[in-house]
Order: sequence, then structure tokens, then C-alpha cells
Amino acid sequence: MENKQIQENYRRISGTIAEAAVKSGRKPEEITFLAVTKTVAPELVNTAIACGITVLGENRVQEYQFKKESYTKGVPVDFIGTLQSNKVKYIIGDMRLIQSVNKFSLAQEIERCAAKLHLQQDILLEINIGDEDSKSGLQPGVLPELLTQIAELEHVHVKGLMTIPPPCKDTSFLQAMQELFLKTKELQIPDTEMRILSMGMSDDYAQAVQYGSTLVRVGSALFGARNYR
Ligand SMILES: *Cc1c(COP(=O)(O)O)cnc(C)c1O
Repeated sequence: MENKQIQENYRRISGTIAEAAVKSGRKPEEITFLAVTKTVAPELVNTAIACGITVLGENRVQEYQFKKESYTKGVPVDFIGTLQSNKVKYIIGDMRLIQSVNKFSLAQEIERCAAKLHLQQDILLEINIGDEDSKSGLQPGVLPELLTQIAELEHVHVKGLMTIPPPCKDTSFLQAMQELFLKTKELQIPDTEMRILSMGMSDDYAQAVQYGSTLVRVGSALFGARNYR
């Protein structure tokens, strides 16, 4: 894809996000536009950064390790893909946020690696809001107890929730996620913030913002179609 096309896409998507933010009573700056970089060549990722992208999202540990040296320096990266515990050690210290924490044992491994390097790691918990067998992610019902357990981990800090809702014409899953986010915030669990709701991709980011998303993860609408997910 041409640089010019990416620039056009960036402007269009930013505009749509801003509109949806205002419609939901927020300021455009309150929504983070994260660029999902899986399968995208580093030159094009850097083009998106030059357009104004301020956070990248990586899905695969190996692909990230291969590409990271070519990225414009100083742009924070979030991990958004399925993460195996044995790979935490390769990305710890590199990630602004690990968005895809889906079990306590993974949080424990992040704690172990972060403690070893004397650093603090912010995370989101991934929720399987559609209760789909095909998706990893936590059942909403486990949140209160799990958050209380994670609060004990000294180097791991929950900043919110992430979800990949099932493809769906209506907005019921987005709404369910918004309700879960607000309900969880009310619990006021120690060392737990409900500040980030990571929800919305190329097909539903505008709707997601209307349902309270604070961070959208956009890949193909920015960079063009991929060969694989
Ligand atoms: C691929 C991916 C996205 C972006 O998907 P698009 O539909 O291309 O915008 C967002 N979040 C996660 C976790 C992904 O794996």
C-alpha cells in the first residue's frame, strides 16, 4: 500500500474516532488509536507513525523481535496477541501494556519476570464477552476474585479490560462490555484501575467508542487487507 493511502486512512479513521468520542460525551484526545502491525512491513509502520500514530500493537513475539529494530524509536508498543507463559521473558520490559492476560498463571509469570528485572508491568485482562470456545479470554464472572489475586502481585498492575467481541451486527456485546467495565470499576479493588477499555477493531471501532471504549486497535482499515489474521 502506498504511503499516501495510509495517510488518507489515518485521517479518515482519526476523524471517525473523534466524532464517536464527541457523540459519547468525551474528548477526541481521550481515545487512543492503536495501530495493529501484524504482517505489516516496518516501513509502512513507520509511515503510520509519521502520520501521528502514537502506540503500536503486536500479536506475535517472534515477529516483533524480528521487526522492532526497524521501527521508529520511542513509540510505545502493546502486546495484544495470545501470549504463552514461556515467552513472557522475551517481551518483558519492552511493552507499555500487555493487553491479553487471560489467566492467573500468566500474570504470575509476568510478575516473576518483572520482579527479576526490577520493573513494573501494566496489564489489561482479556474478556471472552461472547463466551466463544474459539477465543481465549476470561469469563466475566471470574473477575472479582482474579483481580483480588492479581492485586497481590507487586510488579503487575491492572489498568483495565480488553476484548475481541464476536462478529455481530448488533451492539449487544459492546454494551455488555461497557457494563462489565463500569461494574468492575465500582468494586474498587486495591491496586486495580479500570481506566482503559480496549475494544473496537477495523469493523466496529466507531461503535466501540460509542460504548465507552478508550482504546481502539485498528489494523486492516489503516494498512490494508492482510493475508492472515
Ligand atoms: C488483528 C487484530 C486486531 C486488528 O484487526 P483489524 O480487523 O485488522 O483491525 C485487533 N486486535 C487484535 C487482538 C488483533 O489480533
